[in-house]
Amino acid sequence: MNLQKSQQAFEEAKRYIPGGVDSPVRAFNSVGGTPPFIERGQGAYLFDIDGNRYIDYVQSWGPLIFGHCDKDIEEAIIDRVKKGVSFGAPTELETQLAKEIVSLFDSVDKIRFVNSGTEAVMSALRLARGYTAKDDIVKFAGCYHGHSDSLLVSAGSGAATFGTPSSPGVPADLTKHTLIAKYNDIESVKRCFKDSKNIAAVIIEPIAGNMGLVPADKEFLEELRKLCDENNTLLIFDEVMSGFRASLKGAQGIVDIKPDLVTFGKVIGGGMPVGAFGGKEEIMKWLSPEGPVYQAGTLSGNPVAMAAGIATINKLKTNPAIYVELSKKAKRLMEGFQAAADAEEIPFVTEVRGSMFGFFFSDKVVKNFDDALENDQKRFARFHKEMLKRGIYLACSPFETGFISTAISDDMIEETILAAYEVMREIA
Ligand SMILES: *Cc1c(COP(=O)(O)O)cnc(C)c1O
Repeated sequence: MNLQKSQQAFEEAKRYIPGGVDSPVRAFNSVGGTPPFIERGQGAYLFDIDGNRYIDYVQSWGPLIFGHCDKDIEEAIIDRVKKGVSFGAPTELETQLAKEIVSLFDSVDKIRFVNSGTEAVMSALRLARGYTAKDDIVKFAGCYHGHSDSLLVSAGSGAATFGTPSSPGVPADLTKHTLIAKYNDIESVKRCFKDSKNIAAVIIEPIAGNMGLVPADKEFLEELRKLCDENNTLLIFDEVMSGFRASLKGAQGIVDIKPDLVTFGKVIGGGMPVGAFGGKEEIMKWLSPEGPVYQAGTLSGNPVAMAAGIATINKLKTNPAIYVELSKKAKRLMEGFQAAADAEEIPFVTEVRGSMFGFFFSDKVVKNFDDALENDQKRFARFHKEMLKRGIYLACSPFETGFISTAISDDMIEETILAAYEVMREIA
């Protein structure tokens, strides 16, 4: 595979942008090599500037559930662009998208739109702290909630790959308010509640997608709900990734547990920059201008982004069977990878939730971040590189999740599995 133009572009980018990228994972640090620079996407495919074509299982890290250049979403965006791209004044589009989400999520009475998942979580935490008049929060090792100060504590994803539990530049005075618990381990949460009587919120990815794909056990989430209630602590589900991905109702469509606040992002923007946080009326009314907790944004609820979101959610709502189809494909893909690994006696485990899939080069079922860290990262890097050579674009870190879009056909899944057989043989 020729990546000459990408190599040049990467060198050029590095002269002007730190590491040549605007988000660290894109630099391919954990797998090595040059990241293909993308020229365009079409349906299930990505095309790089050297003319290579890839089946895209990353989909902009989750948002593109209908693949690239979906006609309906494209039309909605173009139509809005022609009417002006931003007003900084209310539009009916915001209410429309809000209505769609509120109608799907029992736990959400009201919602506010922001521009990214990071912003959504950051704002939800401030609201939780304001509402409860408490300062501490609990997060789980391996869960990622964006890059705001309070949450860059033992974070997964990019930070985990770099092996740094927190980042320079984050004041210890802030992170001392963040307690770290172990995923799927209720005793570790109880210890947090013993150590602090000042816990405003417990935040969790109910289906973790940033330490690889690691779903929380239902009983664990139930006990978490109970613990929060007993301690007057809010439970926040970060569904930035799992929302509209794991099911039409996110993780909440799979386990019947109601959080107090929910954060969204990724799919709800249909590929445009959108985040949102919502919850019970009683809590949401604390938000300015209705209440005292301040939060704002010049481009929040941007009309073009709202239009893309509305088109996306509408398509999903009118055709909920999409999730059955996506899940079937994800399962087939993971069964295929598993069989390919088994054929070479390579330790391998897989997981699927709706349109999300994950795998580890490991012989144990992964329940938490410590388990995840035991995967064979060197073998993953070789697997990734060889798959890429064969035109299969997988997430470039073992701590990320893969995604199926409606544009990915059964034939493409089989093509991918065939490539996996070849590659497993090579890396055995
Ligand atoms: C992606 C992600 C975020 C951060 O969203 P950005 O839009 O990248 O800021 C937060 N939480 C979870 C669970 C995510 O997957």
